[in-house]
Amino acid sequence: MRRKIVAGNWKMNNDLFEGNKLCGDLKEIMSKKPIDNVDIILGVPYTHLKETSQLMDGFARVAAQDCSSHQKGAYTGEVSCSMIHSTGANYVIVGHSERRMYHNELSSDLLKKIKSALDNNLKVIFCCGESLDQRESNLHFGHIERQLEESLFSLSATEMKNIIIAYEPIWAIGTGVTASSDQAQEMHQYIRLLIKNNYSQEIADGCSILYGGSCKPNNASEIFSKKDVDGGLIGGASLNAKDFYHIIHSF
Ligand code: PEP
Repeated sequence: MRRKIVAGNWKMNNDLFEGNKLCGDLKEIMSKKPIDNVDIILGVPYTHLKETSQLMDGFARVAAQDCSSHQKGAYTGEVSCSMIHSTGANYVIVGHSERRMYHNELSSDLLKKIKSALDNNLKVIFCCGESLDQRESNLHFGHIERQLEESLFSLSATEMKNIIIAYEPIWAIGTGVTASSDQAQEMHQYIRLLIKNNYSQEIADGCSILYGGSCKPNNASEIFSKKDVDGGLIGGASLNAKDFYHIIHSF
């Protein structure tokens, strides 16, 4: 059966010293009440991947927040999936709305990144989500379907088993506004149905679908209580060890 997952997304926060301190705080607090039925992943800047992987060994897995779609070569500033894997990280976040927005990432680019990640033994946390306009115009289901179709549904069934989906309504990211637990459940159920229709019931049942968007200690348990919500992708609250710990224990 699918795994429950809480993944943090530090974004461009914490220099290396601050990041290491946060890892130390997290380890200390986590060792007081270990948890074995939830996978914990930290999405950290490239510069932190190796040290965070070493520091959190046995406590959390590590994700890059993006990757190049290229294997190697003259792509100044880019970081390949094999480089990410060589740090000890096992995951990469692909398609975060901030990357789509500020770096004009298109679905076709994301598919290339996902392929490269899977070819280099990284699991992918694929982000999808609609804008407020789209939700208010009732276009949200169609939009999510298109995002999944364009970036995921050409993958083989075997590849699809290494995909985690994060549903992150853009209007809820960093705004303090969350989707209601019913809104999250409705979309997660729809995403699972799309996976079933494109693959199989088995693949759909095995796919962890995370909610992201202002998930905090005070709302996580309500959101995580829903049948098709398998955990969260946590931005702001992952920067505080106590808040993140509380969310990890919200199932
Ligand atoms: C995110 O950026 O992935 C996110 C969910 O951010 P926040 O929790 O801060 O809304």
